[in-house]
Amino acid sequence: MKTLDLVAPAGSLVALKAAIDQGADAVYLGLRNATNARNFGGLNFNESDIRAGVEYAHQRHRQVLFAINTYPQAQRAQEWRTAVDTAVKLGADAVILADPGLMAYARQRYPDLRLHLSVQGSATTVDAIELMKENFGIRRAVLPRVLTLTEIEKIIRQTSVEIEVFGFGSLCVMAEGRCLLSSYVTGDSPNNKGVCSPGHAVSWEETDHVLSARLNGTLIDRYAPNEATGYPTLCKGRFEINGETDYALEEPTSLNAIGLLPQLIQMGVKAIKIEGRQRSPNYVAQVVSTLRAALDSASREPDRYTARPDWLAKLARHAEGAQVTQGAFERPWK
Ligand code: SF4
Repeated sequence: MKTLDLVAPAGSLVALKAAIDQGADAVYLGLRNATNARNFGGLNFNESDIRAGVEYAHQRHRQVLFAINTYPQAQRAQEWRTAVDTAVKLGADAVILADPGLMAYARQRYPDLRLHLSVQGSATTVDAIELMKENFGIRRAVLPRVLTLTEIEKIIRQTSVEIEVFGFGSLCVMAEGRCLLSSYVTGDSPNNKGVCSPGHAVSWEETDHVLSARLNGTLIDRYAPNEATGYPTLCKGRFEINGETDYALEEPTSLNAIGLLPQLIQMGVKAIKIEGRQRSPNYVAQVVSTLRAALDSASREPDRYTARPDWLAKLARHAEGAQVTQGAFERPWK
């Protein structure tokens, strides 16, 4: 039976256990510092939690992947190398890296370590993937969410590197690894500090029943009473342009590829990833259990597979802005 791996986010030990219990084949996690792209206060793992998490996963024959996917800063590169050392020491099944220099360090120091190219590496062509394989021996590449199914299939046919794609979760404006938007107002970006809208820069204020969300003082959005709110990021802010106030770059929406699972399996995609290390253990449990059921169904009977309405409803409840898209996989706007 042809299938693919379900890779789930874990922002805490509770979330890791929820992911494993609900059927994830692997979880990915980060250390509590700027070496990973979800560097929020109170999130991520200390060494003792990682030890417990790795033991929990390995006892159940699941894998733990370490995201060390931000870019080392010139004065502090050692911090990123130490993160690789820590991942190896704590039993990582693979490290997910973006920076070529860090790739070189990991490859030279740990020849047997499995290296995955992070989505933050922005490799969208077979040439880019093959270059990383030739130089660093990467075993898997996580594709940015900018490619159609046809483009992904073409890449798979031309490389022996395993291909992982996103299956569910919040979307950026399709510029993974290259987004500097948040640094315009906070000085920090996902690429250097591992955080796009750092918690300390976010503020909320209610005046006359209107809730305002600001990022470092810059107004990102205003919500009417009873309107659903979202975490303020510059890309999903509503701004006034030519007298009209609307989303300037992107409406809050989540990717949802549940309807495409048979095609992804058939094409030879190796793994699908759920976005959301910053989300709750409940989100992890619900999304993993739904995708597990869907994947098992799509693997067993691909010709008769349909995404069940209850699966869609469950995922919609966890989608940003309560809306989903198959996004770039189909590119319906073209
Ligand atoms: S500002 Fe938006 S596009 Fe940029 S990293 Fe943050 S969420 Fe992604």
